[in-house]
Amino acid sequence: MKNRTYRPKSVTSRSVRRPGFFPIRFAVWLFVLAGLTPRLTMASLRIYIVTDLEGASGVYQFAQTREPGHPLGEKAKEYLMGDIAAVVRGLRTAGVTDIVVLDGHGSQAFVPHLMEAGATYITGKPRPGPLTRLDESFDGLIQVGAHAMMGTPDGVLCHTQSSRSENRYWYNGVESGELAQCAAIAGCYGVPPIMVTGDEAACREARKFFGPECVTVAVKRGISREAAELYAFDDTRRALYEGAKRAVAAIPRCQPYRLSVPIQAKKEYLVFDGPSGAGRPVSKEGTIKDALKLLDF
Ligand SMILES: [Zn+2]
Repeated sequence: MKNRTYRPKSVTSRSVRRPGFFPIRFAVWLFVLAGLTPRLTMASLRIYIVTDLEGASGVYQFAQTREPGHPLGEKAKEYLMGDIAAVVRGLRTAGVTDIVVLDGHGSQAFVPHLMEAGATYITGKPRPGPLTRLDESFDGLIQVGAHAMMGTPDGVLCHTQSSRSENRYWYNGVESGELAQCAAIAGCYGVPPIMVTGDEAACREARKFFGPECVTVAVKRGISREAAELYAFDDTRRALYEGAKRAVAAIPRCQPYRLSVPIQAKKEYLVFDGPSGAGRPVSKEGTIKDALKLLDF
């Protein structure tokens, strides 16, 4: 938790300075002292959530995630909003004061009328930086709806950045997926990953990269890339709510995920020369000097 003075926005200096009949001014001061003074010393607790669609409850086929406007996709977005809501509720119960939720799915996946209260939601493009508005003031990073890296045998809808061109990335010799990419960017601000939700494979990958202190909540178990054993929404939302509460308690034990720079990077992907036909494998290697620019490689 970062110790900062919390200044309530609801009381302006004007409302206190306004001249008036003495008992009224006295009553105003009583209100300020009784209701708001304790909050002036309360530490703020800020959590940044980045979401993806492939790892949400009930999502297991690319028809639900790839085509904007597809009826299956519109339903899948609602599933994701339900998962986000459960996490936001858990965080609020645990005393989190500020929650920013970023729509991390390529074609964007938020449904505004399903936003849970008590958080703000960033969506739409273009926007600056991969994790817009994230900075050193946040106490933890949560990845909701996450998926395992490309090539994970039991990873539901597994991919890294592009599921079509089958990208794979190595940083300092370690193959890394989107979980590690996001966390490495957050690591530049000293913000630790405290919770990951997705399928069992994504949770396993999170524990491998971030250690056992990072709370993981699985909402399904992969059978193949587009087949899964789904867990009922009532069960996953309860687990997400409880997991979010545990994640807040785990903050002091979680460490930022940092890559040592310059990062030795390698990328493999497919290039398609025409609209049909198999892709041609390409690979490139180089160094990345700033982990904030990780996704530019
Ligand atoms: Zn993704």
